[in-house]
Amino acid sequence: MTHCIFCRIATHEAPAQIIWEDDEVLVFHDIAPQAPVHILIIPKEHLEKLDEMQTDHQHLLGKMLFIAKEQAATLGLKNKGYRLVINTGREGGQAVYHLHMHILGGRPLRWPPG
Ligand code: AMP
Repeated sequence: MTHCIFCRIATHEAPAQIIWEDDEVLVFHDIAPQAPVHILIIPKEHLEKLDEMQTDHQHLLGKMLFIAKEQAATLGLKNKGYRLVINTGREGGQAVYHLHMHILGGRPLRWPPG
């Protein structure tokens, strides 16, 4: 059994509030939301982080970005604005080593981030 929590969510072995999925990508609510809307987009394939992506993954990355804007619209963020984040590596604040994109919105977001 894999110890990667996001792999286990992707295979429905671990619980999550799933919003959308297809054979390659899964969208679910973050367990500790930092904004009124805080969802995660992951590839179902176990890829540790952005740095691991190869030329072959360009389609997947573009697809994740496209799904992010579609989900943002579905969640009512299109006209308000929102933020996409991919924390990468130790100084990037990555805690879960399975590539994921955060969508944050529903309140004004400050810049620069912490
Ligand atoms: P990051 O710092 O970018 O690696 O963020 C990891 C994110 O995953 C955090 O926002 C966590 O709250 C979230 N997270 C960790 N475990 C779970 C889980 N089981 N279900 C949903 N979200 C999770």
